[in-house]
Amino acid sequence: MTPLIDPFARAISYLRVSVTDRCDFRCTYCMSEHMTFLPKADLLSLEELDRLCSTFVRMGVQKLRITGGEPLVRKGILTFFEAMSRHLQSGDLKELTLTTNGSQLAKFAQPLADLGLRRINVSLDTLAPAKFAEITRWGRLPQVLDGIQAAKAAGLRVKINAVALKGFNEDELFPLIDWCAREDHDLTFIEVMPMGEDMTANRLDQYWPLKDLRARLADRFTLTDLTERTGGPARYVRIEETGQKVGFITPLTHNFCESCNRVRLTCTGELYMCLGQEDMADLRAPLRANPDDAALELAIRAAIARKPKGHDFDYSRQAVKGQMTRHMSHTGG
Ligand code: SAM
Ligand code: SF4
Repeated sequence: MTPLIDPFARAISYLRVSVTDRCDFRCTYCMSEHMTFLPKADLLSLEELDRLCSTFVRMGVQKLRITGGEPLVRKGILTFFEAMSRHLQSGDLKELTLTTNGSQLAKFAQPLADLGLRRINVSLDTLAPAKFAEITRWGRLPQVLDGIQAAKAAGLRVKINAVALKGFNEDELFPLIDWCAREDHDLTFIEVMPMGEDMTANRLDQYWPLKDLRARLADRFTLTDLTERTGGPARYVRIEETGQKVGFITPLTHNFCESCNRVRLTCTGELYMCLGQEDMADLRAPLRANPDDAALELAIRAAIARKPKGHDFDYSRQAVKGQMTRHMSHTGG
């Protein structure tokens, strides 16, 4: 089958799938305290998600990241991972992975490792229990740390994703680095993004540009830029003193769009061709209307043909431009 190539000659090889909009946390930068979630009937069933993802794999997707909401709170999620693991076995999929808040890992780490997952991302912004409870509202740090231990014990490589928040975890830069060095976790910092309609008010106050974070790191350590690229917004450095790899995801201060290889599928079957644009394609209708996948494939190709050149996020001039009204929990971060 002809691979998916967009109008800017970028091959689409990476699909991120949000399998639920629900979550057992309420991180302040991601959700409001009282969220209204989608009615269950709007969600794709696990079988439908399987059909959709398998179609993308047939069309050349080689990396699948399962996210949410919190993917591990979706009922029956292991069945879905099991279904996707057949594409790992066939060799069509090179990587099946997960982004999680870690709360359910104590239970799921071993079964996920058994299904062929090798690396996972766990989001963790602070190692201080009280601050963790404050930023996640509903989360408890010990549960997440237990989950991370379970992942390690199951042989999964863990990458910690920390959102850089001014005045919140600035003082934890070195504690986080030290902890990751001791535990042998990779670490990536993410710049906070202007997502969600009722939460953008203090985004600017919380904005801690990663170039400032990096400068602070460089005061203490020798940093070497790594050329390694993932086709995404991450750049990596090596800390020479510890040998650690640290990533920076800077969707706002750095233009990474030219090498973008990814699209995002929501749990209702909307395909977003760009995290920073409103345009999307409904894949649920062609999926449900036809028992075979021909119409679905056409809809996917038509969507990829509309993938925009880039996004418009911009914090410059002290105003949030190109602001998105979607939540990260909808498009899956
Ligand atoms: N619940 C899972 C988790 O927290 O890892 C997966 C979904 S979550 C939406 C994916 C990632 O998006 C997390 O690392 C989270 O920190 C990040 N995120 C959420 N809202 C964000 C925002 N406004 N700016 C930057 N990153 C955000
Ligand atoms: Fe849940 Fe992840 Fe959003 Fe936090 S960032 S509220 S854990 S979906």
